[in-house]
Amino acid sequence: MAEFKLQGSGGYVIADLTEDQAKKADLGVGKLFLAPVGKLEEQKMSKHYCKTCEVEFNNPPKIHLEENTNEQVADNLILVERGQYTCQQCNSVIGEYRVFKKQDESSDAGNAISSQ
Ligand SMILES: [Zn+2]
Repeated sequence: MAEFKLQGSGGYVIADLTEDQAKKADLGVGKLFLAPVGKLEEQKMSKHYCKTCEVEFNNPPKIHLEENTNEQVADNLILVERGQYTCQQCNSVIGEYRVFKKQDESSDAGNAISSQ
């Protein structure tokens, strides 16, 4: 585990990521992004920066669940949840998250988390 800065549309979050999560966040442009990582647990996030407040807070952002869905977005891939990380002070959106599930997960439960 190591600490990374993850960019969102309205600021950034400092979070502990596994190597696998860090790879997902890295879109190859020299920065890491919040959106591709999936949902981060609150205790994994140590700080957040809000562009609206122009302040870096020494605590995690709030997690705002927008909807639980079951939308099929591709063959074999289902969007199960989406939501936002929001500023603990002004409620501005720091970034978004999406949680996906592979449809055939049950047949390969041990490797369900692996990417691709
Ligand atoms: Zn704010």
